Amino acid sequence: MKPLIVGHLFPDYLNIYADRGNIAVLARRAAWRGHELEVRAVGAGAQIRPGEHDLFYVGGGQDREQALIAPELAALGASLHDAFEAGAAFLAVCGGYQLLGRFYRDQSGEELPGIGLLPLYTVAGTRRMIGDVLLECELEPATKQTLAGFENHAGRTILDPGAEPLGRVVAGFGNDGKSGYEGCRLGRAIGTYLHGPLLPRNPWLADWLLAQAIAHRTGHEPELPPLTDELERQAHAVSARRAETRGGHF
Ligand code: GLN
Repeated sequence: MKPLIVGHLFPDYLNIYADRGNIAVLARRAAWRGHELEVRAVGAGAQIRPGEHDLFYVGGGQDREQALIAPELAALGASLHDAFEAGAAFLAVCGGYQLLGRFYRDQSGEELPGIGLLPLYTVAGTRRMIGDVLLECELEPATKQTLAGFENHAGRTILDPGAEPLGRVVAGFGNDGKSGYEGCRLGRAIGTYLHGPLLPRNPWLADWLLAQAIAHRTGHEPELPPLTDELERQAHAVSARRAETRGGHF
């Protein structure tokens, strides 16, 4: 099969807390199942051909970096919407998650345009929400999973009525420290505040994203052979315990 194409949005600007590590996990888990991953940087003025990319990834960043690229990312908005409609998967982390919504009003009060793919907007508050996080998720009906990671954001993200969060907060702040929910899921698009990086300690989500990307490429949902994931399970357990003992809250 041809390689799976991953579009890494603005990799030189949005990449904190080793968010780039998420790509390494996707590439390795794909290879263990006989799939090659080809990662292409997508930046200012990029041509995004419909159907070219199976998965888009965007990491986190400080307000300064977000302000530098937001207009350029917004300019790619129509093509990214087309790619989403054509079935491409998305993983967006923290600052990247905020810019997949309608806008992010940053700590200076400046309103940074988003691409309006996810049904949400974000406004920075004065106190940062920092700490370990644990979520309960159900991406597939009757398949509950936990997601463990680390958050550090000033932004408070407000989902539109009826929008689907990524998960229920078991420990930590989540989208706004009040709603009890974290992240947003829209079809094959996932947005979250969870850094870490996220995927090494949550292999089920890495496999879910890979399955979406392969489904985009082949037209049908694959059965990915299970992996042992012993180290991943231990990393998840440590992260989950940290969140339960010292996750943030107001
Ligand atoms: N700058 C954004 C905020 O503070 C996102 C931070 C991040 O990506 N960690 O909310």
